[in-house]
Amino acid sequence: MQYHEQFDVIVVGGGHAGTEAAGAAARMGMKTLLLTHNVDTLGQMSCNPAIGGIGKGHLVKEVDALGGIMAEAIDHAGIQFRTLNSSKGPAVRATRAQADRLLYKQEIRHRLENQINLQIFQQACEDLILDGDTVVGVVTQAGIRILAKTVVLTAGTFLNGLIHIGMEHYAGGRAGDPASIGLGQRLRELPLRVGRLKTGTPPRIDARSVNFALLQTQPGDDPVPVFSFLGKPEQHPRQVPCYITHTNERTHEVIRQNLHRSPMYAGVIEGIGPRYCPSIEDKVMRFADKNAHQIFIEPESLSSHELYPNGVSTSLPFDVQVQIVRSMLGFEQAHIVRPGYAIEYDYFDPRDLKANMENKCLKNLFFAGQINGTTGYEEAAAQGLLAGINAALRAQDKDPWAPRRDQAYIGVMMDDLSTLGTKEPYRMFTSRAEYRLLLREDNADLRLTPVGRELGLVDDIRWAAFNDKLEQIERERQRLRETWVHLNHPSLATLNDLLKAPLNREHNLEELLRRPEVTYQALMAVDGLGPRVDNAQAAEQVEIQVKYAGYIDRQQDEIDKQLRNENTLLPLDLDYAEVPGLSNEVKAKLNDAKPQTIGQAARIPGITPAAISILLVHLKKRG
Ligand code: FAD
Repeated sequence: MQYHEQFDVIVVGGGHAGTEAAGAAARMGMKTLLLTHNVDTLGQMSCNPAIGGIGKGHLVKEVDALGGIMAEAIDHAGIQFRTLNSSKGPAVRATRAQADRLLYKQEIRHRLENQINLQIFQQACEDLILDGDTVVGVVTQAGIRILAKTVVLTAGTFLNGLIHIGMEHYAGGRAGDPASIGLGQRLRELPLRVGRLKTGTPPRIDARSVNFALLQTQPGDDPVPVFSFLGKPEQHPRQVPCYITHTNERTHEVIRQNLHRSPMYAGVIEGIGPRYCPSIEDKVMRFADKNAHQIFIEPESLSSHELYPNGVSTSLPFDVQVQIVRSMLGFEQAHIVRPGYAIEYDYFDPRDLKANMENKCLKNLFFAGQINGTTGYEEAAAQGLLAGINAALRAQDKDPWAPRRDQAYIGVMMDDLSTLGTKEPYRMFTSRAEYRLLLREDNADLRLTPVGRELGLVDDIRWAAFNDKLEQIERERQRLRETWVHLNHPSLATLNDLLKAPLNREHNLEELLRRPEVTYQALMAVDGLGPRVDNAQAAEQVEIQVKYAGYIDRQQDEIDKQLRNENTLLPLDLDYAEVPGLSNEVKAKLNDAKPQTIGQAARIPGITPAAISILLVHLKKRG
């Protein structure tokens, strides 16, 4: 049966990747269909109720700068906000928000339902329609054939998903949702490199059964941060604290005693799990010398009693989970609402993707999110946005767009994945970015909003706010350069109190702000040196740009040098075995990875500068 309409872009999956992909394509004017198992699970958080954190917060700000929905949704659904690393340099500062998972889902759905050019359709996708090596549509569970110019696949943990609780296991996409078996099998028949990964989640606890008096309270920040560049603290719902408890020797003993009942340790699970979100059994075995682990107790919603004990993800059997939970201080009488579990699922080798997230073998098919071997809502959202953009560009026969490593964490992630692949769930960290002084949360809009506007992703309201901020920054920087403090300034004594060494000649305000002990706020509080700009984001930007100018300029020089060869294209049909002068090892690595550019090739471990020179000569000869 043929669907009554055709589309420019079909997005399969309504998780964090799919919702951003569909939103982006629709904002770019493409007739878009979001096809998902269940409309009620749009934007569902499968695991922890939180958005952001170090590296991840950077991705969310970039998604926001490009007009995406994640940051705005969490501003309306966040019940505790914090700035992590607030005492460190701006490059590693990161925003994190605890989400009310029900409100979050509602916010995502509201935005999608009100998005022009976007239709939502509840059906499982069972198959892809191919015309030779080009994808031209999908077939749903009910046998409905829907045609489109491009398809974006974002099936998350659902493809051949297998849930484990102790030695019991059954098919599932995540707790309460079906696995995607038909599509999973079909994809395994196509020329795609498939692997298995796993992830896990902790049991959820009924707050009424917890003794909070025994727990340490962890409040959010005051003033409360926001995520979106357009966000305001007034948009946040009621703010609540989180709590902290610990595992102890008893917890660890229970785990050691029952290890043989863990599917992972008994060898039942073959997939590799996320290194940075290990299960509690993993932590106890790997860090055997530690006799306690900190557990953050996070509320799941303002309108439910569920708690998320962050740090006790487990696939041990239910009776062991009860013992683990009840061994912790404050949890002696705890009632488990949902058992913890592990899930194994199919993922596709991301080296089979081009930088624009299109599959190298199947044209017009884009992959985003967990199916590319990543973990995390933010990583998924960022990929979804990029895949949605590129599917929309392809549908219009326009050139692809992919941010470079020096432009965005999104660029770092996609370059890492498509160049190096991944054997374990990939998550973002600031340490993955070599140019992290330039890639800060605070300047994500300066880096990306102009290109977002060009792509058609940024609406007039965001664009006007952005330009206003830009103007304020420029005006203020000019004022700081042009305002001189002479030795007879009436506020000289107050100013000298701020400085380590008193003034002995005239200085402009920019020079004074460059001193490590001087903050913009303190300088502006000195009589006659203000008024400061009223836009807090602009003020922050002025301070960072002035204080870090030297480092930023040095990093920019480095980038300019790198860029010379970075974008030299390598033909995808190039057989490296035929390139004279390369070692067999290098030939094999290049044929395996099929890099798209010289820059990508240079980042493959084992590819030497000498090999790059040979490649450049070979390209010149090929002409
Ligand atoms: P998902 O959020 O999984 O969304 C996939 C969507 O596709 C769903 O809406 C689904 O219904 C739909 N779908 C699937 N197949 C089809 C089909 N054939 N037809 C139509 N629709 C389909 N991340 C962390 O960062 N840390 C963790 O500790 C962590 N633990 C996790 C534990 C568990 C048990 C699970 C399930 C996930 C965990 N995650 C964790 C991962 C996090 O949930 C994902 O990274 C994130 O949700 C990925 O987003 P996505 O959009 O790629 O996929």
